[in-house]
Amino acid sequence: MTAPLIDPFARAITYLRVSVTDRCDFRCVYCMSENMTFLPKKELLTLEELDRMCSTFVGLGVEKLRITGGEPLVRRDIMTFFNGMTRHLDSGALKELTLTTNGSQLERFADQLYAAGVRRVNISLDTLDDQKFADITRWGRLPQVLRGVDAAQKAGLRVKINAVALKGFNEDELPTITAWCAERDMDLTWIEVMPMGDLGNEDRLGQYWSLKDVRARYAEHYTVTDLAERTGGPARYVRLEETGQKIGFITPLSHNFCESCNRVRLTCTGELYMCLGQEDMADLRAPLRAAPQDSAPLEEAIRAAINLKPKGHDFDYSRQRLDGQMPRHMSHTGG
Ligand code: SAM
Ligand code: SF4
Repeated sequence: MTAPLIDPFARAITYLRVSVTDRCDFRCVYCMSENMTFLPKKELLTLEELDRMCSTFVGLGVEKLRITGGEPLVRRDIMTFFNGMTRHLDSGALKELTLTTNGSQLERFADQLYAAGVRRVNISLDTLDDQKFADITRWGRLPQVLRGVDAAQKAGLRVKINAVALKGFNEDELPTITAWCAERDMDLTWIEVMPMGDLGNEDRLGQYWSLKDVRARYAEHYTVTDLAERTGGPARYVRLEETGQKIGFITPLSHNFCESCNRVRLTCTGELYMCLGQEDMADLRAPLRAAPQDSAPLEEAIRAAINLKPKGHDFDYSRQRLDGQMPRHMSHTGG
């Protein structure tokens, strides 16, 4: 059996996030500029290459794949990729196949995703107000996403809502969004907004709202209990005693989860980022394309990259000059 991927700090790498496209049908103000330039198609891994790449990782012990983007469901023929991954679920090598989506295409894809073996989906939704939704996503329309949420639940997919916490934007909706998730039996996670690249959004809606403040806001409405549970990722959880709901908080760049970090990220061009907070990356597309019939060079490149996975990252939001700011967009690395 091939040796699993273990980094220099004895962390087993079992979780791969894969961005399958940098394109999107929305233009969320914190994520993309309105006139975003996308990568030329030839730069992107083809669906076959994505399959080979992910299958190689699965062969090396990756048990969880999260598909993201850009908007993964706008990639043409994306179901071919999901259907390809089903064989790894069937063999038991892959334990979970999941995706993060803006929900706009779920009405069309929910049943097919379930059939491919997807059981859980994260849907990003920051507001339940039609006008605010149109403002924050620029091109998105709330009713379409709500139909997507319905379709996902109807198909049998477990839904988690991810909301970016924005001061002065969805602050007042905290009780409404929380109650809506409770009614529909959906988990809810708040994400702290990160400064990503130069989006030219001087008109940025809302501002940084620290999750500490979000938690404090919950405490005004509910009895909040901290939970010890961690998932190897940046989320922390609390339970609202009145409703029994578990609420997650993701501070994407906080240091406090580095020691348990089990994940790496693959961009749609085949770059492997070992840490969300650092620029170190390895190009896996070159070894993949150089030897289409032989996965040994790719495996070697993956192992070499994992050997470089840093212990942790250095990013401090409190610094005035956001020195740790990363030039790449989340739509490229995959959120
Ligand atoms: N398009 C899909 C979606 O929106 O769910 C998947 C890709 S998107 C880049 C993944 C996640 O990143 C979304 O939940 C989005 O809200 C989040 N995101 C994007 N830009 C962000 C930023 N600057 N700070 C924090 N979260 C961000
Ligand atoms: Fe698209 Fe997701 Fe970025 Fe919004 S957050 S622009 S939906 S990739």
